[in-house]
Amino acid sequence: MCGIVGYVGKNKNAMKVLMDGLQCLEYRGYDSAGIAILQNETIEIIKSKGKVSSLSHKLKAKGIVESELGIAHTRWATHGIPNEINSHPHRQGSVTLVHNGIIENYTQLKADLVLQGYSFTSDTDSEVACGVIDSLYKQYRDKHKTLQQANAMFRGSFAFAIVFDDDIKTLYAMRRNSPLIVAFKEDEIYVASDVPAILKYTNKYTLLEQDEYAVLTKHEVEIYSLQGTRREYEIKTAAMEVVDIQKEGFDHFMLKEIHEEPKVVSETMRFYLGDGISDLMSRLPDLSIYKELYMIGCGSAMYACMVAKSLIESKARIKVELEVASEFRYKNPILTKETLVIVVSQSGETADTLASLQLAKENNVDTLAIVNVVGSSIAREAKYVCYTLAGPEIAVATTKAYCTQVALLSLIGLSFSVIYQKVSKKEIEEIINEIKNIENTLSNVVNDGQYEVAAKIISKFSNVFFIGRGIDYALCMEASLKLKEISYIHSEAYPAGELKHGTISLVEKGTPVIAIITQQNILEKMISNMKEVKARGASIIVIASEDLEVDLDIFDYRITIPKSNSYLQAITAIVPLQLLSYQVAMLKGCDIDQPRNLAKSVTVE
Ligand code: GLU
Repeated sequence: MCGIVGYVGKNKNAMKVLMDGLQCLEYRGYDSAGIAILQNETIEIIKSKGKVSSLSHKLKAKGIVESELGIAHTRWATHGIPNEINSHPHRQGSVTLVHNGIIENYTQLKADLVLQGYSFTSDTDSEVACGVIDSLYKQYRDKHKTLQQANAMFRGSFAFAIVFDDDIKTLYAMRRNSPLIVAFKEDEIYVASDVPAILKYTNKYTLLEQDEYAVLTKHEVEIYSLQGTRREYEIKTAAMEVVDIQKEGFDHFMLKEIHEEPKVVSETMRFYLGDGISDLMSRLPDLSIYKELYMIGCGSAMYACMVAKSLIESKARIKVELEVASEFRYKNPILTKETLVIVVSQSGETADTLASLQLAKENNVDTLAIVNVVGSSIAREAKYVCYTLAGPEIAVATTKAYCTQVALLSLIGLSFSVIYQKVSKKEIEEIINEIKNIENTLSNVVNDGQYEVAAKIISKFSNVFFIGRGIDYALCMEASLKLKEISYIHSEAYPAGELKHGTISLVEKGTPVIAIITQQNILEKMISNMKEVKARGASIIVIASEDLEVDLDIFDYRITIPKSNSYLQAITAIVPLQLLSYQVAMLKGCDIDQPRNLAKSVTVE
């Protein structure tokens, strides 16, 4: 979701750092961009609807020169349409700021400010936040007191980078529920939403904690609690490198990331598995004390949980509740001491998932976070954390992070099966051998390239259905989401037996129905379901494992995937579906890495 980058430094590098930073943050999803930069001792604001490149043209046209301080923003509109006026930075009185998040009580705050004589040009909650800070500063003439008081007045989520007119050599930053890092180089200080934004310049950073604020000059970083107590901080070194956030010859990050799947899935599984089951058990929390699981996530992370639920319930025979985070957080969930709550999030900053985690903690149950970003809010708040080793994921639509989530959850499933003695030694050996070879297996699938014909069929229609049963249905959910996200084709995923209870009325001549089949025991049922839609004119694309025989007259096109052990089959099965969506989006000429309206790390409710 929106990105913030700020710079203060003796090398007058602000323009370059801010524009590079905004470009690196583009992947988070945005609809407009803006910059506030120190020019001739005043703060100049330049904003633009649309891409960072159009902001860049404006800056050039205006002759903006290098500077020692600036703040910049990519906006993902929540309050007010994406236009230039609503873009950040915003300014009120002597305060200029950029904001990520939502100030939930902005209507009340705005009314109070109007009574004080403030007027507003934008529809945003952020301009109101700016007014609140300006008004408090007029009252206190003390920046610490102002920020502490503003923090107490704001409800909702925020990451701010702020400049005061009477102190144009200093940046202020403050956060709650939205991420913000402070990064260091000699005599240069950066503030950013995440590490990739400043990685070109430095890999040394520290995290701002919940409700903290920071005072940044080119020589010094001071971090304060809400009570105004200054604290020491630890300087971390980012594990990622600049190449990790470049396309490296691929047309899109999404394609690059799909091609990385064999490696990152293998690394994630081998890291946890080590030399075998006892290593696996020692690298996970003690799972033997839990009799029930609650799995929570949003979007693809939720669908990874859905795969895991199917696997764990059928194999380990323990009960798994599944919940979308935005629902769970407002529930009164039934949790016991024997429940482990597993929250899954790529970024580790997903607002609803974080709130769900907090609710689980309030209920005094153990929590395990499966996240990709080290040190993220969810990772820090959970009792236990297991990282997926997917590396930085730049494309908005997740591929490799989802795969590593499924991989890690499958290992958790295997551990439960071992604990509850539901898997034989022989099968464990088989699984371990397959994991040793999983990089090869997945490489073959990724490089197979048999997707173009199917993609052409799909790209001509505006409605598509995915059907499957059991774990294949869970895969259908993710496949359908992927197609919607990047190709804008409407699609629905259905349990194969359910389509005829209503939705089959939407099947017309040629409507693509994509059937996923990886389980022998439901093959016949799936064939019947395919015949039902075929009889009504559907074009059928089958994605089936190599061991399954499907008569040629049933489908229009078949994609065959390798047969894997059921603990691993979902991982091999999803890859062609990701590639298929990619091909469809290519044929339709879509903006694959940054689909419209979407954000990568959803830090608002
Ligand atoms: N709520 C603010 C707005 O709509 C900030 C959105 C964002 O995080 O980009 O302008």
